[in-house]
Amino acid sequence: MQFAQVTGNGHLKALLAQMVDNNRLPHAILLTEDDAWGAMPLAIALAQYVNCENPSGGDSCGVCDSCHKYGKLIHPDLHFVFPVAATKGLTESEKKAGIISDYFLDSFRQMVLRKPYFDEQDLYDAIEIENKSGSICVAEAKRLTEKLSLRAFEGKYKTVIIYLPEKMNQDTANKLLKLIEEPPAGTLFIMVSHAPERIISTIRSRCQLIRLQPLTRKEKEAAGIAARVKPEYRELLIQLLNAGIAKSVIDTFPVWEALADMVRERQKEWCLYAESYIRKIYMTASGLEGIADLDGEEADTVRAFAARIKPSFYETAYKALEGAMASVDSNVNPKLTFCNLCNILLLSM
Ligand SMILES: [Zn+2]
Repeated sequence: MQFAQVTGNGHLKALLAQMVDNNRLPHAILLTEDDAWGAMPLAIALAQYVNCENPSGGDSCGVCDSCHKYGKLIHPDLHFVFPVAATKGLTESEKKAGIISDYFLDSFRQMVLRKPYFDEQDLYDAIEIENKSGSICVAEAKRLTEKLSLRAFEGKYKTVIIYLPEKMNQDTANKLLKLIEEPPAGTLFIMVSHAPERIISTIRSRCQLIRLQPLTRKEKEAAGIAARVKPEYRELLIQLLNAGIAKSVIDTFPVWEALADMVRERQKEWCLYAESYIRKIYMTASGLEGIADLDGEEADTVRAFAARIKPSFYETAYKALEGAMASVDSNVNPKLTFCNLCNILLLSM
């Protein structure tokens, strides 16, 4: 992946390329984001850039042998570490020795190539650990130490991309700290974190911290990134619509309180989700269910709302949600914003 293929965060791409060009690249970089804002594509693009045989204009060439291998994520000097858990496919001895990313590497590569802006749940779905939460165990740090003790096979740098370092336990973190404190020559660590405050401070302090910016709606559309619908988004909206149908003001309290407690990005994401869901109800009510893009489970719920909501609701709801997003951007008190939003939606149903 070239920098040019990474959506958004243009200033960071330029900054990273400049660090490489001026020989000022730190050996450990911690990219932070709240969600899939593009830190993984950026990490891969940086790793590809440092090993490209013909970089120019602040980007890798995309066609040399090294870029070709990075493009497929199969360069022998590119190492991935990510949280994993036990699966049925692993043998007892593998489980006993400690479950490491290498066991899942093929599935991981395929997922990243298919969906570079993946999130934590996409990862767990891809490596089929189902509803378990992954972690990075000490066997992983040991394996990495072995790999890095070898000379770089082909590239100038050995690059290690660690996804969600906050999933390391204390033993893993201590062992990894040794590697980061005294890295084998020509090693570049790039970490992608969604919760840097949960990484032990001794590791954090040895990394250059770089914070990504969230993608704008346009950038997301351009990159074909559909936000994952978080189950709580749906629950809150359904709760609110039910409160509206029952005309029960008191039932809206937990909804607007939960919305007011979210971080701003999540608040806007929820509003966008609500808009798209209400659009589905509108289309269904208008006899256009065929193009409303309903999935199996939600179809019945959408139809039930479509049968009970007044036609005038849709336009009011859309305006109120746009207004709420504008209020979030202008730092209006979130309780006021979402209490107000819930009241307008309730009254217009
Ligand atoms: Zn190249």
